[in-house]
Amino acid sequence: MPKFEYAPAPESRSIVSLRESYGLFINGEFGPSVDGRAFKTISPATEEVLAEVTEAGPADVDRAVTAARKAYEHTWSAMPGRERAKYLFRIARIVQERARELAVLESLDNGKPIRESRDVDIPLVAAHFFYYAGWADKLEYAGYGPAPRPLGVAGQVIPWNFPLLMLAWKIAPALACGNTVVLKPAETTPLTALAFAEICQQADLPPGVVNIVTGAGETGRALVEHPGIDKVAFTGSTEVGKQIARACAPTRKKVTLELGGKAANVVFEDAPVDQAVEGIVNGIFFNQGHVCCAGSRLLVQESVYDEVLASLRRRLATLRLGDPLDKNTDVGAINSAAQLAKIRELSEVGEAEGAQRWSPPCELPVKGFWFPPTIFTGVSQAHRIAREEIFGPVLSVLTFRTPAEAVEKANNTPYGLSAGVWTEKGSLILWMASRLRAGVVWANTFNKFDPTSPFGGYKESGYGREGGRHGLEAYLDV
Ligand code: NDP
Repeated sequence: MPKFEYAPAPESRSIVSLRESYGLFINGEFGPSVDGRAFKTISPATEEVLAEVTEAGPADVDRAVTAARKAYEHTWSAMPGRERAKYLFRIARIVQERARELAVLESLDNGKPIRESRDVDIPLVAAHFFYYAGWADKLEYAGYGPAPRPLGVAGQVIPWNFPLLMLAWKIAPALACGNTVVLKPAETTPLTALAFAEICQQADLPPGVVNIVTGAGETGRALVEHPGIDKVAFTGSTEVGKQIARACAPTRKKVTLELGGKAANVVFEDAPVDQAVEGIVNGIFFNQGHVCCAGSRLLVQESVYDEVLASLRRRLATLRLGDPLDKNTDVGAINSAAQLAKIRELSEVGEAEGAQRWSPPCELPVKGFWFPPTIFTGVSQAHRIAREEIFGPVLSVLTFRTPAEAVEKANNTPYGLSAGVWTEKGSLILWMASRLRAGVVWANTFNKFDPTSPFGGYKESGYGREGGRHGLEAYLDV
Protein backbone atom coordinates (compact mmCIF):
# COMPACT_ATOMS: atom_id res chain seq x y z
CA MET A 1 0.00 0.00 0.00
CA PRO A 2 1.48 3.42 -0.88
CA LYS A 3 2.33 5.51 2.14
CA PHE A 4 1.63 9.21 1.95
CA GLU A 5 4.14 11.62 3.39
CA TYR A 6 2.94 14.32 5.72
CA ALA A 7 3.86 17.94 5.11
CA PRO A 8 5.17 19.67 8.25
CA ALA A 9 2.33 21.26 10.22
CA PRO A 10 4.05 23.27 12.93
CA GLU A 11 2.02 25.11 15.53
CA SER A 12 3.23 28.72 15.73
CA ARG A 13 5.10 29.54 18.91
CA SER A 14 4.45 33.28 18.49
CA ILE A 15 1.46 32.99 20.83
CA VAL A 16 3.93 32.49 23.69
CA SER A 17 5.83 35.51 24.90
CA LEU A 18 8.69 34.12 26.93
CA ARG A 19 10.35 36.41 29.41
CA GLU A 20 14.13 36.34 29.65
CA SER A 21 13.91 35.55 33.34
CA TYR A 22 11.25 34.61 35.87
CA GLY A 23 11.13 35.38 39.57
CA LEU A 24 9.50 33.45 42.38
CA PHE A 25 5.75 33.95 42.84
CA ILE A 26 5.29 34.79 46.49
CA ASN A 27 2.41 36.71 48.06
CA GLY A 28 0.91 37.54 44.67
CA GLU A 29 4.06 39.05 43.17
CA PHE A 30 7.05 37.89 41.15
CA GLY A 31 10.37 38.67 42.81
CA PRO A 32 14.00 37.59 43.15
CA SER A 33 15.36 35.00 45.54
CA VAL A 34 17.17 36.06 48.69
CA ASP A 35 20.53 34.77 47.46
CA GLY A 36 20.05 35.59 43.75
CA ARG A 37 20.50 32.05 42.42
CA ALA A 38 19.01 31.03 39.08
CA PHE A 39 19.00 28.16 36.57
CA LYS A 40 18.10 27.79 32.92
CA THR A 41 15.23 25.83 31.48
CA ILE A 42 15.71 24.41 28.00
CA SER A 43 13.64 22.89 25.23
CA PRO A 44 14.44 19.15 25.31
CA ALA A 45 13.72 18.95 21.57
CA THR A 46 16.39 21.47 20.55
CA GLU A 47 18.42 22.19 23.71
CA GLU A 48 17.63 25.88 23.15
CA VAL A 49 17.61 27.92 26.36
CA LEU A 50 14.04 29.13 26.88
CA ALA A 51 14.43 31.27 29.99
CA GLU A 52 16.26 31.78 33.23
CA VAL A 53 14.33 30.74 36.31
CA THR A 54 14.94 31.67 39.93
CA GLU A 55 16.12 29.00 42.34
CA ALA A 56 14.39 29.27 45.69
CA GLY A 57 16.51 28.61 48.76
CA PRO A 58 15.28 27.82 52.29
CA ALA A 59 14.77 31.53 53.08
CA ASP A 60 12.53 31.92 50.02
CA VAL A 61 10.55 28.81 50.89
CA ASP A 62 10.11 30.29 54.35
CA ARG A 63 8.79 33.55 52.88
CA ALA A 64 6.36 31.61 50.69
CA VAL A 65 5.09 29.52 53.62
CA THR A 66 4.66 32.67 55.72
CA ALA A 67 2.66 34.32 52.92
CA ALA A 68 0.52 31.21 52.53
CA ARG A 69 -0.12 31.05 56.29
CA LYS A 70 -1.19 34.69 56.42
CA ALA A 71 -3.50 34.23 53.44
CA TYR A 72 -4.91 31.07 55.00
CA GLU A 73 -5.70 32.68 58.33
CA HIS A 74 -6.89 36.09 57.23
CA THR A 75 -8.50 35.47 53.86
CA TRP A 76 -8.98 32.08 52.31
CA SER A 77 -10.14 29.79 55.12
CA ALA A 78 -12.52 32.48 56.34
CA MET A 79 -14.06 32.99 52.91
CA PRO A 80 -17.40 31.22 52.24
CA GLY A 81 -17.07 28.27 49.87
CA ARG A 82 -19.30 29.92 47.26
CA GLU A 83 -16.81 32.83 47.07
CA ARG A 84 -13.80 30.51 46.74
CA ALA A 85 -15.70 28.74 43.97
CA LYS A 86 -15.91 31.96 41.98
CA TYR A 87 -12.12 32.23 41.91
CA LEU A 88 -11.74 28.61 40.83
CA PHE A 89 -14.31 29.03 38.06
CA ARG A 90 -12.48 32.17 36.97
CA ILE A 91 -9.14 30.33 36.85
CA ALA A 92 -10.75 27.51 34.83
CA ARG A 93 -12.13 29.97 32.29
CA ILE A 94 -8.81 31.80 31.94
CA VAL A 95 -7.07 28.45 31.37
CA GLN A 96 -9.56 27.80 28.56
CA GLU A 97 -9.02 31.26 27.11
CA ARG A 98 -5.25 30.85 27.19
CA ALA A 99 -5.35 27.16 26.21
CA ARG A 100 -3.38 27.45 22.97
CA GLU A 101 -0.64 29.49 24.60
CA LEU A 102 -0.40 27.06 27.54
CA ALA A 103 -0.28 24.07 25.20
CA VAL A 104 2.56 25.55 23.15
CA LEU A 105 4.47 26.52 26.30
CA GLU A 106 4.05 23.03 27.75
CA SER A 107 5.29 21.37 24.56
CA LEU A 108 8.24 23.74 24.37
CA ASP A 109 9.41 23.16 27.94
CA ASN A 110 8.49 19.48 28.28
CA GLY A 111 8.98 18.08 24.76
CA LYS A 112 5.55 16.42 24.55
CA PRO A 113 3.66 16.51 21.23
CA ILE A 114 1.40 19.53 20.83
CA ARG A 115 -1.46 17.17 19.94
CA GLU A 116 -1.28 15.83 23.50
CA SER A 117 -0.78 19.11 25.35
CA ARG A 118 -3.56 20.69 23.25
CA ASP A 119 -6.09 17.83 23.37
CA VAL A 120 -5.33 16.14 26.69
CA ASP A 121 -3.25 18.11 29.22
CA ILE A 122 -4.74 21.58 29.00
CA PRO A 123 -8.43 20.57 28.61
CA LEU A 124 -7.99 18.34 31.67
CA VAL A 125 -6.41 21.24 33.61
CA ALA A 126 -9.50 23.39 32.95
CA ALA A 127 -11.79 20.42 33.72
CA HIS A 128 -10.10 19.94 37.09
CA PHE A 129 -10.64 23.53 38.13
CA PHE A 130 -14.25 23.45 36.95
CA TYR A 131 -14.86 20.20 38.81
CA TYR A 132 -13.39 21.30 42.15
CA ALA A 133 -14.97 24.75 41.84
CA GLY A 134 -18.26 22.85 41.99
CA TRP A 135 -17.30 21.21 45.30
CA ALA A 136 -16.14 24.39 47.10
CA ASP A 137 -19.62 25.30 48.39
CA LYS A 138 -20.82 21.71 48.89
CA LEU A 139 -18.13 20.27 51.15
CA GLU A 140 -20.62 19.49 53.89
CA TYR A 141 -22.31 17.05 51.49
CA ALA A 142 -19.09 15.28 50.47
CA GLY A 143 -19.35 12.60 53.14
CA TYR A 144 -16.69 14.01 55.47
CA GLY A 145 -18.94 15.32 58.23
CA PRO A 146 -21.28 18.30 58.51
CA ALA A 147 -18.59 21.01 58.64
CA PRO A 148 -15.29 19.68 57.25
CA ARG A 149 -12.36 21.98 57.93
CA PRO A 150 -9.33 22.66 55.72
CA LEU A 151 -5.86 21.61 56.91
CA GLY A 152 -3.96 24.88 56.50
CA VAL A 153 -0.94 25.37 54.26
CA ALA A 154 -0.17 22.66 51.69
CA GLY A 155 3.39 22.09 50.40
CA GLN A 156 3.11 20.49 46.96
CA VAL A 157 5.92 19.02 44.84
CA ILE A 158 5.24 17.88 41.30
CA PRO A 159 7.17 16.13 38.49
CA TRP A 160 7.93 17.03 34.91
CA ASN A 161 5.80 14.57 32.96
CA PHE A 162 2.47 16.48 33.12
CA PRO A 163 3.59 19.83 34.54
CA LEU A 164 0.42 21.91 34.40
CA LEU A 165 -1.92 18.95 34.83
CA MET A 166 -0.16 17.83 38.01
CA LEU A 167 -0.35 21.41 39.25
CA ALA A 168 -4.11 21.35 38.64
CA TRP A 169 -4.48 17.98 40.41
CA LYS A 170 -2.75 19.51 43.42
CA ILE A 171 -3.98 23.11 43.55
CA ALA A 172 -7.67 22.75 42.55
CA PRO A 173 -8.80 20.46 45.42
CA ALA A 174 -6.54 22.24 47.95
CA LEU A 175 -8.08 25.63 47.19
CA ALA A 176 -11.62 24.28 46.96
CA CYS A 177 -11.29 22.94 50.52
CA GLY A 178 -9.98 26.27 51.85
CA ASN A 179 -6.25 25.55 52.06
CA THR A 180 -3.50 27.79 50.70
CA VAL A 181 -0.53 26.36 48.82
CA VAL A 182 3.17 26.59 48.12
CA LEU A 183 3.98 24.55 45.02
CA LYS A 184 7.32 23.55 43.57
CA PRO A 185 7.31 22.54 39.90
CA ALA A 186 10.04 20.24 38.53
CA GLU A 187 13.37 21.82 37.68
CA THR A 188 13.08 20.93 33.98
CA THR A 189 9.49 22.16 33.47
CA PRO A 190 8.79 25.32 35.48
CA LEU A 191 7.31 27.52 32.75
CA THR A 192 3.63 26.57 32.78
CA ALA A 193 3.54 26.83 36.58
CA LEU A 194 4.87 30.38 36.21
CA ALA A 195 2.23 31.08 33.56
CA PHE A 196 -0.29 29.76 36.08
CA ALA A 197 1.03 32.31 38.58
CA GLU A 198 0.14 35.01 36.04
CA ILE A 199 -3.31 33.45 35.73
CA CYS A 200 -3.73 33.76 39.51
CA GLN A 201 -2.93 37.47 39.18
CA GLN A 202 -5.34 37.77 36.26
CA ALA A 203 -8.07 36.10 38.34
CA ASP A 204 -7.41 38.54 41.22
CA LEU A 205 -6.75 35.63 43.55
CA PRO A 206 -5.92 37.12 46.96
CA PRO A 207 -2.11 37.35 47.47
CA GLY A 208 -0.51 34.37 49.21
CA VAL A 209 -3.25 31.84 48.37
CA VAL A 210 -1.02 30.32 45.67
CA ASN A 211 2.78 30.63 45.84
CA ILE A 212 5.12 29.07 43.26
CA VAL A 213 8.73 28.42 44.26
CA THR A 214 10.93 27.17 41.43
CA GLY A 215 14.10 25.17 42.03
CA ALA A 216 15.51 21.66 42.12
CA GLY A 217 15.29 18.78 44.59
CA GLU A 218 16.77 20.87 47.43
CA THR A 219 13.95 23.40 47.10
CA GLY A 220 11.46 20.52 47.25
CA ARG A 221 13.16 19.17 50.34
CA ALA A 222 13.11 22.59 52.06
CA LEU A 223 9.40 22.82 51.32
CA VAL A 224 8.30 19.39 52.54
CA GLU A 225 10.50 19.67 55.65
CA HIS A 226 9.32 23.19 56.52
CA PRO A 227 7.68 23.08 59.97
CA GLY A 228 5.04 25.62 58.91
CA ILE A 229 3.17 23.38 56.48
CA ASP A 230 0.28 21.13 57.45
CA LYS A 231 0.03 18.93 54.41
CA VAL A 232 2.47 17.46 51.89
CA ALA A 233 1.34 16.33 48.45
CA PHE A 234 3.98 14.74 46.25
CA THR A 235 4.03 13.12 42.83
CA GLY A 236 7.30 11.67 41.57
CA SER A 237 9.68 8.79 42.05
CA THR A 238 9.21 6.11 44.70
CA GLU A 239 12.70 6.83 46.00
CA VAL A 240 11.99 10.49 46.77
CA GLY A 241 8.50 9.54 47.99
CA LYS A 242 10.08 7.26 50.60
CA GLN A 243 12.45 10.04 51.71
CA ILE A 244 9.47 12.36 52.13
CA ALA A 245 7.50 9.74 54.06
CA ARG A 246 10.48 9.32 56.41
CA ALA A 247 10.91 13.08 56.86
CA CYS A 248 7.22 13.58 57.64
CA ALA A 249 6.75 10.50 59.85
CA PRO A 250 7.66 12.25 63.13
CA THR A 251 5.49 15.30 62.32
CA ARG A 252 1.74 15.90 62.29
CA LYS A 253 1.76 16.65 58.56
CA LYS A 254 -0.81 14.82 56.48
CA VAL A 255 0.90 13.22 53.46
CA THR A 256 -0.26 11.91 50.11
CA LEU A 257 2.18 10.26 47.70
CA GLU A 258 1.57 9.43 44.04
CA LEU A 259 4.61 7.42 43.00
CA GLY A 260 5.81 5.10 40.26
CA GLY A 261 4.21 2.21 38.45
CA LYS A 262 4.87 -0.81 36.25
CA ALA A 263 1.40 -1.45 34.94
CA ALA A 264 0.32 -4.63 33.20
CA ASN A 265 -1.76 -4.27 30.05
CA VAL A 266 -3.40 -7.68 29.66
CA VAL A 267 -4.63 -8.80 26.22
CA PHE A 268 -6.83 -11.91 26.08
CA GLU A 269 -7.28 -14.04 22.95
CA ASP A 270 -10.84 -12.81 22.33
CA ALA A 271 -9.87 -9.10 22.36
CA PRO A 272 -10.40 -7.10 19.15
CA VAL A 273 -6.79 -6.96 18.01
CA ASP A 274 -6.80 -3.60 16.22
CA GLN A 275 -8.45 -1.89 19.16
CA ALA A 276 -6.10 -3.58 21.62
CA VAL A 277 -3.06 -2.52 19.60
CA GLU A 278 -4.25 1.11 19.71
CA GLY A 279 -4.60 0.72 23.46
CA ILE A 280 -1.14 -0.80 23.81
CA VAL A 281 0.37 2.08 21.81
CA ASN A 282 -1.54 4.67 23.80
CA GLY A 283 -0.60 2.86 27.01
CA ILE A 284 3.16 3.08 26.55
CA PHE A 285 3.99 5.62 23.83
CA PHE A 286 1.65 8.40 24.98
CA ASN A 287 3.84 11.20 26.40
CA GLN A 288 6.98 9.18 25.43
CA GLY A 289 6.07 6.71 28.17
CA HIS A 290 6.75 9.37 30.82
CA VAL A 291 3.58 8.30 32.56
CA CYS A 292 3.42 6.81 36.05
CA CYS A 293 0.44 4.65 35.06
CA ALA A 294 1.92 3.67 31.64
CA GLY A 295 1.11 0.15 30.43
CA SER A 296 4.79 -0.74 30.33
CA ARG A 297 4.33 -4.52 30.74
CA LEU A 298 2.28 -6.08 27.97
CA LEU A 299 0.86 -9.47 28.90
CA VAL A 300 -0.46 -11.26 25.80
CA GLN A 301 -2.30 -14.57 25.81
CA GLU A 302 -0.02 -17.06 24.10
CA SER A 303 -2.57 -18.12 21.45
CA VAL A 304 -2.69 -14.59 19.93
CA TYR A 305 0.91 -13.57 20.60
CA ASP A 306 2.09 -13.72 16.95
CA GLU A 307 -0.93 -11.86 15.65
CA VAL A 308 -0.76 -9.10 18.28
CA LEU A 309 3.00 -8.64 17.89
CA ALA A 310 2.82 -8.46 14.09
CA SER A 311 0.05 -5.90 14.27
CA LEU A 312 1.88 -3.91 16.96
CA ARG A 313 5.07 -3.77 14.87
CA ARG A 314 3.11 -2.56 11.84
CA ARG A 315 1.46 0.14 13.94
CA LEU A 316 4.75 1.27 15.46
CA ALA A 317 6.20 1.75 11.99
CA THR A 318 3.58 4.45 11.40
CA LEU A 319 4.37 6.50 14.52
CA ARG A 320 5.90 9.85 13.71
CA LEU A 321 8.70 11.00 15.97
CA GLY A 322 10.01 14.55 15.90
CA ASP A 323 9.25 18.21 16.48
CA PRO A 324 6.83 18.39 19.43
CA LEU A 325 5.23 21.50 17.93
CA ASP A 326 4.31 19.68 14.71
CA LYS A 327 0.63 18.71 14.84
CA ASN A 328 1.38 15.38 13.15
CA THR A 329 3.93 14.27 15.73
CA ASP A 330 3.05 11.20 17.81
CA VAL A 331 6.26 10.81 19.82
CA GLY A 332 8.10 13.88 21.09
CA ALA A 333 11.37 14.44 22.91
CA ILE A 334 12.58 12.77 26.10
CA ASN A 335 12.30 15.36 28.84
CA SER A 336 15.95 15.58 29.89
CA ALA A 337 19.44 14.25 29.25
CA ALA A 338 19.29 12.51 32.64
CA GLN A 339 16.06 10.72 31.78
CA LEU A 340 17.44 9.71 28.37
CA ALA A 341 20.51 8.24 30.06
CA LYS A 342 18.25 6.23 32.38
CA ILE A 343 16.16 4.87 29.48
CA ARG A 344 19.31 3.95 27.54
CA GLU A 345 20.85 2.24 30.54
CA LEU A 346 17.81 0.10 31.30
CA SER A 347 17.40 -0.80 27.62
CA GLU A 348 21.01 -1.97 27.51
CA VAL A 349 20.38 -4.03 30.63
CA GLY A 350 17.37 -5.57 28.86
CA GLU A 351 19.57 -6.71 25.98
CA ALA A 352 22.33 -7.91 28.29
CA GLU A 353 19.80 -10.00 30.21
CA GLY A 354 18.78 -11.72 26.97
CA ALA A 355 15.57 -9.98 25.85
CA GLN A 356 15.19 -9.09 22.15
CA ARG A 357 15.03 -5.42 21.34
CA TRP A 358 13.12 -4.00 18.36
CA SER A 359 12.37 -0.49 17.11
CA PRO A 360 10.85 0.56 13.78
CA PRO A 361 13.18 2.33 11.34
CA CYS A 362 13.24 5.81 12.79
CA GLU A 363 15.48 8.79 12.17
CA LEU A 364 16.31 10.64 15.38
CA PRO A 365 16.93 14.40 15.28
CA VAL A 366 20.56 15.35 15.86
CA LYS A 367 19.93 17.91 18.59
CA GLY A 368 17.85 17.32 21.67
CA PHE A 369 17.01 14.14 23.61
CA TRP A 370 15.36 11.34 21.65
CA PHE A 371 14.62 7.66 22.02
CA PRO A 372 12.77 5.54 19.44
CA PRO A 373 9.63 3.57 20.34
CA THR A 374 11.03 0.23 21.48
CA ILE A 375 9.65 -3.24 22.18
CA PHE A 376 11.39 -5.98 24.14
CA THR A 377 10.22 -9.54 23.56
CA GLY A 378 11.42 -12.69 25.27
CA VAL A 379 11.14 -10.86 28.59
CA SER A 380 10.90 -12.89 31.78
CA GLN A 381 9.51 -11.68 35.08
CA ALA A 382 12.98 -11.63 36.60
CA HIS A 383 14.36 -9.17 34.05
CA ARG A 384 14.96 -5.66 35.33
CA ILE A 385 12.99 -4.24 32.38
CA ALA A 386 9.98 -6.21 33.65
CA ARG A 387 10.38 -4.97 37.22
CA GLU A 388 11.70 -1.41 37.13
CA GLU A 389 9.99 1.74 35.95
CA ILE A 390 11.81 2.82 32.75
CA PHE A 391 9.64 5.92 32.31
CA GLY A 392 10.29 6.02 28.58
CA PRO A 393 8.89 4.66 25.29
CA VAL A 394 9.92 1.08 26.04
CA LEU A 395 7.49 -1.84 26.21
CA SER A 396 8.31 -5.21 27.77
CA VAL A 397 6.26 -8.08 26.34
CA LEU A 398 5.43 -11.21 28.34
CA THR A 399 2.94 -14.00 27.70
CA PHE A 400 0.41 -16.01 29.72
CA ARG A 401 -1.91 -18.98 29.13
CA THR A 402 -4.74 -18.68 31.68
CA PRO A 403 -6.51 -15.79 33.40
CA ALA A 404 -5.11 -16.95 36.75
CA GLU A 405 -1.58 -16.76 35.34
CA ALA A 406 -2.30 -13.28 33.98
CA VAL A 407 -3.39 -12.09 37.43
CA GLU A 408 -0.35 -13.69 39.05
CA LYS A 409 2.04 -12.00 36.63
CA ALA A 410 0.25 -8.66 36.60
CA ASN A 411 0.40 -8.46 40.41
CA ASN A 412 4.03 -9.58 40.54
CA THR A 413 5.38 -6.06 41.02
CA PRO A 414 6.15 -3.82 43.96
CA TYR A 415 3.88 -1.22 42.35
CA GLY A 416 0.10 -1.03 42.00
CA LEU A 417 -1.03 2.09 40.21
CA SER A 418 -2.95 0.91 37.14
CA ALA A 419 -3.74 -2.01 34.85
CA GLY A 420 -5.51 -2.66 31.56
CA VAL A 421 -7.69 -5.59 30.45
CA TRP A 422 -8.65 -6.33 26.84
CA THR A 423 -11.39 -8.89 26.26
CA GLU A 424 -14.90 -9.18 24.78
CA LYS A 425 -16.18 -10.83 27.97
CA GLY A 426 -17.65 -8.54 30.60
CA SER A 427 -17.49 -11.29 33.19
CA LEU A 428 -13.75 -11.72 32.62
CA ILE A 429 -13.22 -7.97 32.97
CA LEU A 430 -14.95 -8.00 36.36
CA TRP A 431 -13.13 -11.16 37.43
CA MET A 432 -9.78 -9.56 36.56
CA ALA A 433 -10.63 -6.15 38.05
CA SER A 434 -11.46 -7.69 41.41
CA ARG A 435 -8.10 -9.49 41.51
CA LEU A 436 -5.69 -6.91 40.11
CA ARG A 437 -4.00 -4.92 42.88
CA ALA A 438 -4.05 -1.60 41.08
CA GLY A 439 -5.68 1.73 41.90
CA VAL A 440 -7.18 2.02 38.42
CA VAL A 441 -8.17 -0.83 36.09
CA TRP A 442 -9.07 0.19 32.55
CA ALA A 443 -11.13 -2.20 30.44
CA ASN A 444 -10.78 -2.07 26.64
CA THR A 445 -9.16 1.34 26.94
CA PHE A 446 -6.07 2.82 28.60
CA ASN A 447 -4.86 6.14 30.02
CA LYS A 448 -8.34 7.60 30.30
CA PHE A 449 -8.60 10.41 32.83
CA ASP A 450 -11.47 12.36 34.23
CA PRO A 451 -11.55 14.79 37.16
CA THR A 452 -14.47 12.94 38.73
CA SER A 453 -12.52 9.70 38.96
CA PRO A 454 -10.14 8.96 41.85
CA PHE A 455 -6.56 8.05 40.99
CA GLY A 456 -3.86 6.59 43.21
CA GLY A 457 -1.87 3.51 44.07
CA TYR A 458 -1.34 0.44 46.18
CA LYS A 459 1.99 -0.74 47.60
CA GLU A 460 5.01 1.29 46.43
CA SER A 461 2.86 3.37 44.09
CA GLY A 462 1.97 5.49 47.10
CA TYR A 463 -1.04 6.35 49.20
CA GLY A 464 -3.97 8.75 49.06
CA ARG A 465 -6.25 9.48 46.15
CA GLU A 466 -6.43 12.45 43.82
CA GLY A 467 -9.47 13.35 41.77
CA GLY A 468 -13.15 12.96 42.41
CA ARG A 469 -14.85 13.22 45.80
CA HIS A 470 -12.07 11.04 47.22
CA GLY A 471 -9.53 13.73 46.30
CA LEU A 472 -11.15 16.14 48.78
CA GLU A 473 -10.23 13.96 51.75
CA ALA A 474 -6.52 14.70 51.31
CA TYR A 475 -7.19 18.39 51.94
CA LEU A 476 -9.71 18.17 54.78
CA ASP A 477 -9.13 17.63 58.49
CA VAL A 478 -10.91 14.28 58.65
P1 NDP B 1 11.84 12.97 41.39
O1 NDP B 1 10.99 12.13 42.26
O2 NDP B 1 13.22 13.27 41.81
O3 NDP B 1 11.14 14.38 41.13
C1 NDP B 1 9.81 14.72 41.43
C2 NDP B 1 9.76 16.09 42.11
O4 NDP B 1 10.36 16.03 43.40
C3 NDP B 1 10.53 17.17 41.37
O5 NDP B 1 9.89 18.40 41.52
C4 NDP B 1 11.86 17.15 42.08
O6 NDP B 1 12.60 18.32 41.89
C5 NDP B 1 11.42 16.98 43.52
N1 NDP B 1 12.42 16.44 44.43
C6 NDP B 1 13.57 15.78 44.15
N2 NDP B 1 14.20 15.41 45.29
C7 NDP B 1 13.43 15.85 46.31
C8 NDP B 1 13.53 15.77 47.74
N3 NDP B 1 14.55 15.15 48.34
N4 NDP B 1 12.55 16.32 48.49
C9 NDP B 1 11.49 16.92 47.91
N5 NDP B 1 11.35 17.03 46.57
C10 NDP B 1 12.30 16.50 45.78
O7 NDP B 1 11.84 12.34 39.95
P2 NDP B 1 12.92 12.59 38.79
O8 NDP B 1 12.49 13.75 38.02
O9 NDP B 1 14.30 12.61 39.33
O10 NDP B 1 12.76 11.26 37.94
C11 NDP B 1 13.40 10.08 38.36
C12 NDP B 1 12.53 8.89 38.08
O11 NDP B 1 11.35 8.97 38.84
C13 NDP B 1 12.05 8.78 36.66
O12 NDP B 1 12.96 8.15 35.86
C14 NDP B 1 10.80 7.99 36.82
O13 NDP B 1 11.08 6.62 36.84
C15 NDP B 1 10.26 8.42 38.15
N6 NDP B 1 9.20 9.43 38.07
C16 NDP B 1 7.95 9.05 38.32
C17 NDP B 1 6.92 9.95 38.23
C18 NDP B 1 5.54 9.55 38.50
O14 NDP B 1 4.63 10.29 38.21
N7 NDP B 1 5.32 8.40 39.09
C19 NDP B 1 7.13 11.33 37.83
C20 NDP B 1 8.52 11.67 37.63
C21 NDP B 1 9.49 10.73 37.74
P3 NDP B 1 13.57 18.38 40.59
O15 NDP B 1 12.75 18.09 39.41
O16 NDP B 1 13.98 19.77 40.58
O17 NDP B 1 14.64 17.40 40.85
